[in-house]
Amino acid sequence: MFYKNDIVKVLLPIAVGDGYDYQLNAPAEIGTFVNASVMNRKLIGVIIGAGDSGLPLEKIKPATPLQFRITQSTLNWIQKMSEWTMMPIGMVLKLIINVPEAFNPPKTEQLYLFEENKKIKMTDARQAIADAFTSNYNEPMTISDIKNITHVSYAVIRSMINNKTLKPVSQQIKKTGLEEINYFDTKKVKLNSEQKCAADSIKLGDFSVYLLDGITGSGKTQVYFDSVWRAYATGKSVLLMMPEIALTAQFMNRFESRFGAKPVVWHSNLTAARRRDIWRGVANGEIKIIVGTRSALFLPWSNLGLVVIDEEHDGSYKQEDMGNYHARDMAILRAKIENFPIILASATPAMETLRNASDGKYKHLKLKSRFGGASMPVIETIDFRKPEEHTDSGHISTTLFNALKQTLADGQQAMLFINRRGYAPIVQCKKCGWHADCPDCSVGMTHHKKNNSLLCHICGRTQPMQKKCPICDDEELSMSGIGLEKIQEEILAKFPNARTALVSSDTIMSRQALERLVNKMESGEIDIVIGTQILAKGHHFPNLTLVGVIDADMGLFSTDFRSGEKTFQQLFQVAGRAGRAELPGRVLLQTYQPEHSVFNAICTYNRDDFMANDMAGRRVAKMPPFGQLIAIIVESEKEHILKKFCENLAAVTPKIKNAKIFGPIPAQLYKIRTWYRMRFLVAGDERANLQSAVKHWLSKIKQPANVRIKIDVNPQNFM
Ligand SMILES: [Zn+2]
Ligand SMILES: [Zn+2]
Repeated sequence: MFYKNDIVKVLLPIAVGDGYDYQLNAPAEIGTFVNASVMNRKLIGVIIGAGDSGLPLEKIKPATPLQFRITQSTLNWIQKMSEWTMMPIGMVLKLIINVPEAFNPPKTEQLYLFEENKKIKMTDARQAIADAFTSNYNEPMTISDIKNITHVSYAVIRSMINNKTLKPVSQQIKKTGLEEINYFDTKKVKLNSEQKCAADSIKLGDFSVYLLDGITGSGKTQVYFDSVWRAYATGKSVLLMMPEIALTAQFMNRFESRFGAKPVVWHSNLTAARRRDIWRGVANGEIKIIVGTRSALFLPWSNLGLVVIDEEHDGSYKQEDMGNYHARDMAILRAKIENFPIILASATPAMETLRNASDGKYKHLKLKSRFGGASMPVIETIDFRKPEEHTDSGHISTTLFNALKQTLADGQQAMLFINRRGYAPIVQCKKCGWHADCPDCSVGMTHHKKNNSLLCHICGRTQPMQKKCPICDDEELSMSGIGLEKIQEEILAKFPNARTALVSSDTIMSRQALERLVNKMESGEIDIVIGTQILAKGHHFPNLTLVGVIDADMGLFSTDFRSGEKTFQQLFQVAGRAGRAELPGRVLLQTYQPEHSVFNAICTYNRDDFMANDMAGRRVAKMPPFGQLIAIIVESEKEHILKKFCENLAAVTPKIKNAKIFGPIPAQLYKIRTWYRMRFLVAGDERANLQSAVKHWLSKIKQPANVRIKIDVNPQNFM
C-alpha cells in the first residue's frame, strides 16, 4: 500500500524505459492505474513498485490514482511477455490500456441510428454501415464509431445523414446492461460417453494445458462448454478466444442454448461506448465470461479461472504489426503465471502443440466419432498432368466439371475454393515485357474485373486498369494466373444457368454480409459458391456435397518450413465443409503432384502419420518446435541507409552459443508501402538463449531515426 506523497515507480505505455518515478497525490496500491504526464503528454500508467530513482523531490511530477487496477500476477505476466517477445514492456502495457476512454466519464457526442429506407440504394459501403449497427446490437453510434468500424469515407457517412438513413438521436448513452447477465446451465445438452470422458478429464484449479483434439462435428464445443460452466459456477472468470471469422450467430446461439443468455463478445468492431463498458466490467469483475478475438486476452482480468482457445492452430492468433506476439502462447504464459488451466481446441493442432502433447506437457484429449453419425467426405486428387483432365477453359478439370454437372443435376450445392482474390494476379505486356507492379511495394498488382481496377494485395493501393501498355502502347495486355473472378467466369461459361456467389474479403465486408450469404446457401438460392479461405471456417451447409479445390498446390511451393503443415490444415478445413448432414460429400483436389505426402495424408485422413513425418524432419533440421528462431526485420525508406545500417549490424554479429545468425538478405517482399526491408534470422537449438543475445547485439549499434527494427520471436511468416 502506498500513501499520499509516496514516491512510486510508474510504468508508462511507451516504447522507452521501464518505469519512471512519480509522487502520489492520493493513496494507491501496486497495479493501480494512474494519470501521469511525460514531456507534457498526459498518459495512463500503472504503479509497479516504490520509486527508486533517487531524484530530488522538486524534479518528481505528481501522479493521480484512477479507480481501476490490475493484479501483481498480471504485472508479472507483462514482464515475462516483454522478455519473451522482446517487445518493450511499455508496449505490452499499451495492449492492456487499449481502451483509454474506460477511465473517463462517457462522452456526449452526437449519436446516430440506422434507419432502413427501401427507396435508397444500398451500396457496399452503405451496407457495411448498416451491418455495423446490426453487429453492435443496434445501439446508437457516433460518427467516429462508424468510421472506425467500417473504414468507409466521411462522404458516405454524410450522404447517409443527408438521405436520412442515418438519423441523429438525442438519447443519452444508455447502460449496455452487460453487468446484469446471469448464466445458468440449461441442461439442454447431453454429452455422449466420449465427450463426457474428455470433459471429466479437464480439472479446474491449477495450471495445466489440455489439447482437445477432434474433427469438425466431433463435439469439442460442448466439451469445453462443460468446463466453462464449472469455472463460472465457482465464481471465476472465463475467456473463450476464437478467430474473428468464427464469432458467428450459429456459435452465439449454441452458447445461449447451453447457458441461457448470449455471451459478451469482444472484437475490434465494437462502438467506443461498448468497449468502454466491457473493459470496465471486466476490471471490476462484473463481466465474467467473454467470447473474443486475440485482444480479449489483454482485458484487465483479475480472477481468471479458465481460458479456452478454439481453432488454436489459426494464423489469426499471431499479431504482426505493432509488436509481434502469438496470443495462444501468451495465453499459456498467462495461465502458468496466474495458475489456471487452459484448453486448446482444434481439428488440426499446430505442430508446437502436438509436440508438447506427445512429450506429455499437455494432456491430449481425443474425440474420434463424428456427432450424429455424419460420415466424412471422400477426398480424391485430380492429376492435372493428365491430358484428359484438360478442358478448353483451363482451370476446371474434366473430373471436376463432371462432378459439378452431377451435383447441379441432383439439386445439390458445390463449393470451389481458391485462395486468391480478384481476376488475375499477373498483368503484363507480351510485346515489351512491362508488368503492372505496385509503385510502393515490390509485388505485382492484381486485376479485379468487378471494378475494372488494379489492386495491390499488400498495401491496398488501387488504380484504374490499364487500357494499354504504358511503355509500348500495345493494346493486348495478358492476364495470367487465376483468381476467384476468373473461376466464376469459367463456371458461368460452362454452366450459364448456375447461380454463383463470390466470397472473399472484397465481397464480404462484415460478418453480417457473410451470414446473409450463409442464409442464401441454406435457402438454396446459390448453386455454386466460389471463395477464399473465409469460406473454410465455421459454417455448416447441409446441402453442400461437392468441394473442389482449384489449385491445391498453391501453398506447397513456399520456402516456409511450415508450408506442409499449413497446407494440410487448410485443405482439411476446406474438406470438412462437404457432406455434413445426411448427404455424403465428395472433395476433389486439383494438383500437379498428387503423389505429394500432404495429399496422401488428406485423402486417407491420416493426419497423425503426416504430422509425425513432418515433425521428424523438423527435429533433424532443428526447426521449431525443436529449435528457436528470431527474425529481425530492418526497414527504411532510404535504401542506402538501410544497407549501411545492416552492414554495421552484420559487422558486430555476436557468436551465440548453440545458435547461428543468417543475413542480412533482402526480404522476399523487399519493399512494402515505400519501406525497403532486409532480414536477419537467428536460429538456435532448444538450449540457446536467443533473446538476451539479440538484445545485447542490437544495443551495440545506434539505430538511426529513419530506420525501423522489428523483432519477431518464433516467426510464422518469412516474407
Ligand atoms: Zn508493352
Ligand atoms: Zn502496394
